[in-house]
Amino acid sequence: MPESSIVVRPEPMDSAAYTAASRLHAPGLQPAIKLFEAAAAAVPMPTPPQPIVIADYGAATGHNSLLPINAAIAVLRKRTRSDHSTLVVHTDLPDNDFTALFRTLSEDPDSYLSRDANTFASAIGRSFYTQIMPSSSVHLGWSSWAIQWLSRTPTPIPDHIQIAYSRDASVRAAYARQAAHDWHEFIAFRGRELRRGGRLLVMTMGVGEDGDAGHRPTLTAIADALDEVAGSGLITADERHRMCLPVVARSEADFCAPFAPKGRFEQLEIEHLEIFDAEDRYWNDYRRDRNAQAFGARWAAFVRAAVFPSLVAALAGGTADPRAVQFYDRLERGVAERLAANPEQTRLPMAHVVLLKRRKAQ
Ligand code: SAH
Repeated sequence: MPESSIVVRPEPMDSAAYTAASRLHAPGLQPAIKLFEAAAAAVPMPTPPQPIVIADYGAATGHNSLLPINAAIAVLRKRTRSDHSTLVVHTDLPDNDFTALFRTLSEDPDSYLSRDANTFASAIGRSFYTQIMPSSSVHLGWSSWAIQWLSRTPTPIPDHIQIAYSRDASVRAAYARQAAHDWHEFIAFRGRELRRGGRLLVMTMGVGEDGDAGHRPTLTAIADALDEVAGSGLITADERHRMCLPVVARSEADFCAPFAPKGRFEQLEIEHLEIFDAEDRYWNDYRRDRNAQAFGARWAAFVRAAVFPSLVAALAGGTADPRAVQFYDRLERGVAERLAANPEQTRLPMAHVVLLKRRKAQ
């Protein structure tokens, strides 16, 4: 298979583990919720019986979407009748664990379904790198921790698992091209789906002004542990070579590129853009309890759920490969040991971007 045709999706995650481990994603959530509330206060309201439509792009289990969606609904409710119906549409890739998503919606005490009788849920299993909602149908869009995943792996990364830490200029250029293309596609399709005056909030991995994409200790530990697993003979050199994360962090310039030179892209403009360092909660825990083993174990559990599935996809038998369980366990142990041996704070640069679809065609 030519390399250019390798289509990699983040593999379906272990949903329960992801929900538990995604506590790390909570930093950045509170300020994003404030931005989402401001967006909910500003979007034009449809006239009943037309529903208010909220789309959640890259929802996974839906767990991390509940608080922002509740917050938006609370703001919207103040602006309209309590019987004005709201439709929430959760989207993800076809292989996502939608059963876990629907369970979250019916069982989680924070679910909007148990709080607001006139809010309804639905789901779409298609990549957001295409149009997946009717044109001009979405009032509010939310997307957290999802668009850092590229639509495809441009090429294996010879010297790391994450492009930010590769020294290979041509490979870096291939990822930069793919990242630019994917951001362009993502916002072009969202621009079609949004209603005029509608807003989309994107929370994703950022690159600060100094060019640091962060996540260094964990990514280094994964790359080292992977070499150890390959050295032990559990995986082949070819499999090791293909294991990489099709994930990118973006800088302010990356986000702004499609909007040059006039600050507009089709009918969209950037209403808010901020790149900041989120706190490393595992580090904070470590500073309190000084428990290096627990520190390593927490980070390792997080990356096992969020990152390892993409690596396992490179095994000859994919996620169903008989070596998969052993691979997961050994890699997790290797990462935990390395981080426990040298606990370090992780820099977590993140971006908040709010896009607005202009009210009038210009
Ligand atoms: N929004 C949640 C989940 C983030 S995990 C949170 O904030 O915790 C990232 C999710 O993005 C995964 O479920 C993954 O399947 C999804 N994703 C990645 N690429 C995607 C694509 N092209 N289209 C739709 N969903 C995608």
